[in-house]
Amino acid sequence: MASIAQLSQHIDQEISLTGWLTDKSSKGKLHFLKLRDGSGFVQATVFKNDVSEDVFESARRLVQEQAVTITGLVRQDDRAPGGVEISVRDLRPLSQNEGEYPITPKEHGVEFLFDQRHLYTRHRRPWAIMRVRDCVQRAMINFFHGEGFVRFDSPFFTPNAAEDTTELFEINLFDEDKAYLSQTGQLHAEAGALAFGKVYTFGPTFRAEKSKTRRHLLEFWMVEPEVAPSNHQENMALQERFVSSVVRQVLQECAAELQMLGRDLTKLAGAAEGNYPRVTYTEALKIIRQHIESADLPPNVSPDTQPVEWGDDFGAPHETILGHHFDRPVIVERYPAAIKAFYMQPDPEDERLALCDDMIAPEGYGEIIGGSQRIHDYGLLRSRIEEHGLPLDAFDWYLDLRRFGSVPHAGFGLGLERFVMWITGSEHIREVIPFPRMLSRMKP
Ligand code: ATP
Ligand code: MG
Ligand code: MG
Ligand code: MG
Repeated sequence: MASIAQLSQHIDQEISLTGWLTDKSSKGKLHFLKLRDGSGFVQATVFKNDVSEDVFESARRLVQEQAVTITGLVRQDDRAPGGVEISVRDLRPLSQNEGEYPITPKEHGVEFLFDQRHLYTRHRRPWAIMRVRDCVQRAMINFFHGEGFVRFDSPFFTPNAAEDTTELFEINLFDEDKAYLSQTGQLHAEAGALAFGKVYTFGPTFRAEKSKTRRHLLEFWMVEPEVAPSNHQENMALQERFVSSVVRQVLQECAAELQMLGRDLTKLAGAAEGNYPRVTYTEALKIIRQHIESADLPPNVSPDTQPVEWGDDFGAPHETILGHHFDRPVIVERYPAAIKAFYMQPDPEDERLALCDDMIAPEGYGEIIGGSQRIHDYGLLRSRIEEHGLPLDAFDWYLDLRRFGSVPHAGFGLGLERFVMWITGSEHIREVIPFPRMLSRMKP
């Protein structure tokens, strides 16, 4: 059996392949069958004079998403997608479908398509996006492997909150025991870094995001490297090497899928190069203010957008303005500690700030990375936990990491879906995960 992806190696040869019908049209003595087989999409033509009566009739009766095995001659055709077409000699349906396939070639609303997600994944756009998602994950793992990192998985049930406690999913385990679904693997990855030096954790992450946005899922995947010893500067350098290397590999391996998605690849060229600009939080506020005051705003940013006051976090429009200001990802560093997590090392030059950074994707795809140097001093970390009103006993193990052999260390988290949204140019985060989980979506 051949696969569609390999057909160009079989020009002028007879092959057999099994696939599914995505669309069909007929014109006199010809049926045009659009097929997919998981590896790609191709058109096959059934010409009445080339096949038996039975085969011609079977082709006429094929319905959308019926499985079929065809045998035929591979012909080069530069007008066809993939550069080939198949002239069918024989054809055998493999399934008899029950009822009508719900997703017809006409336009459907987004909600309908996501109600049908278990079927919709077969279609071209989701198919191309999931292939890119797969490629991104491989490129990430490759990068870490190449830099000598050890994969160190964090648990999904955790005893402690790490980020915003309002976004915690609490689980009742047994009689009195409570646990939370992990909002980040970082804290456990820190234990790994002190054991292995360089680790990364990669797994699902859960946040009770109560507002509807295009960028927030309840369940998403995060890759979180952690290095000990390390510091803020090395951490930013690692982020830039990581992101540029993954973009390069994806451009090499998935150019066809990205083209299928209509992605303008020139928009990713800067990200593949490296040399990401770095600005401080305070400088970023100025850039945002200038754009607002001169009404120089990206098309999807409302003219009513207000500048950020020093001390506040950015909203989506502010990240969009920043993203459009640069031609590649920008690293914004040293945010006010008050709007960041409890474990971040204070900036020695200004105690109000944290040694942290966010990487903001270009073109308005928003924050893709949050990272920081971690507090390594036992007393300081302990008092931060208390100041944040977090239960000390849940963090006794985490404090042990500062009791025994504590060194400055750093790491970051990159949201897989945010990254894939940006690379594929997707408008909504639900498009880039097989089965999105959001406020209004738990099914299928
Ligand atoms: P945001 O400001 O967009 O809410 P965050 O600052 O809360 O993100 P972090 O805690 O820094 O997020 O998490 C690290 C990364 O995880 C983010 O940079 C982003 O890529 C991703 N991320 C965070 N929350 C979500 C979510 N609800 N859905 C998908 N990805 C997310
Ligand atoms: Mg958030
Ligand atoms: Mg943020
Ligand atoms: Mg963040």
